[in-house]
Amino acid sequence: MNMIVKDTQAGDAVERGIGAYLDEIVALRHDLHRHPELAFHEHRTSEIVVSRLSSWGYEVATGIGGTGVVATLSRGEGQRSIGIRADMDALPIEEATGLAHASVHRGVMHACGHDGHTAILLAAGRYLAEAGRFDGTVRLIFQPAEEIGAGARKMLSEGLFERFPVDAVFGLHNWPGVPTGQFGFVAGAAMASVDQCNITIVGKGGHGAEPQLTVDPVLATASLITALQSVVSRNVDPQEMAVVTVGSIHGGSASNVIPESVALKLTMRAFNEATRALLGEQVPALACAQAESFGATAEVDYRRGFPALINHRAETELARSVALEAFGPGQIVSNFKPRTASEDFAFMLEEKAGSYLFVGNGDSASLHSANYDFNDAIIAPAARYWVRLVETFLA
Ligand SMILES: [Zn+2]
Ligand SMILES: [Zn+2]
Repeated sequence: MNMIVKDTQAGDAVERGIGAYLDEIVALRHDLHRHPELAFHEHRTSEIVVSRLSSWGYEVATGIGGTGVVATLSRGEGQRSIGIRADMDALPIEEATGLAHASVHRGVMHACGHDGHTAILLAAGRYLAEAGRFDGTVRLIFQPAEEIGAGARKMLSEGLFERFPVDAVFGLHNWPGVPTGQFGFVAGAAMASVDQCNITIVGKGGHGAEPQLTVDPVLATASLITALQSVVSRNVDPQEMAVVTVGSIHGGSASNVIPESVALKLTMRAFNEATRALLGEQVPALACAQAESFGATAEVDYRRGFPALINHRAETELARSVALEAFGPGQIVSNFKPRTASEDFAFMLEEKAGSYLFVGNGDSASLHSANYDFNDAIIAPAARYWVRLVETFLA
């Protein structure tokens, strides 16, 4: 108990330290929100990140994975190092919030809060440079292109962890619907894999009044969509999570014309590779068999996206204990559930030990909604959390 009281006071000192320039960080967050940039086009954002970090004494490397930035700060003789990653990109969404700091770029919006993640890491980075007590090396990783699942992979393929070694890497995402500033931790699978399957059912078009002379791809597609529901209900182990969603269907243009083909787009999610592989076999097999049973054919384009995000147990325990010490049990969501959304930080966790955690965004619109906004009230506690994690990891 003494430990918790002592660390809570220490934590408050960090938050007071960050509080001295919180207005500036919030203004910066609003500025990033006003000027959102799509995947791999985060040039302005990247420049702002670089100029701030350089002014605080970080050694800054740019151009890693396009617009990616890695900032390094070392103290003492310690050989250990920790990486903390934030994402910087926005989404192709027309903002509908009507806020004073709403996007000025038509059709582009920070609808996932990556402006906030960047601001949090900058707030923590400034504190660490000015007053951080640690022995070792901190690496702040600002990643491009999370939304298209390509940024982490590109940074890794350009030698992220060879050039900038870390013993563990951490990241966070704000989460709408979770009380403001509360932390969620999941050991093991925390977010799902994502794969896409594009299916074209090809038949033989003709007059709507003479179906006997055609092969109707609309009917075959209708049957396929129904049959696809059996993959999760009949093929997947009932104790495993799986999602098969047909999110797009396009075919035909007139009531009296049977079209040549119908196109479908599916997304598939799973928490482990075995279930993921099963979906990858069963969905295309069903598409081909269903099409064939109607005399049609199925063209299947299966695109593997990214794997499930698997948090390492020891690092997740450490991450949780830091939050517990700094904020007390009331700020930790008990039994935080894995999320069926996806996150390309999964690739970093395939190479390095680490953990990805969640911070409540309060009662906001959902992620990727045109009405969403990041909650500025998270910045101070989340930045304080990063500082405490670094100081604990590099004690
Ligand atoms: Zn997103
Ligand atoms: Zn996101």
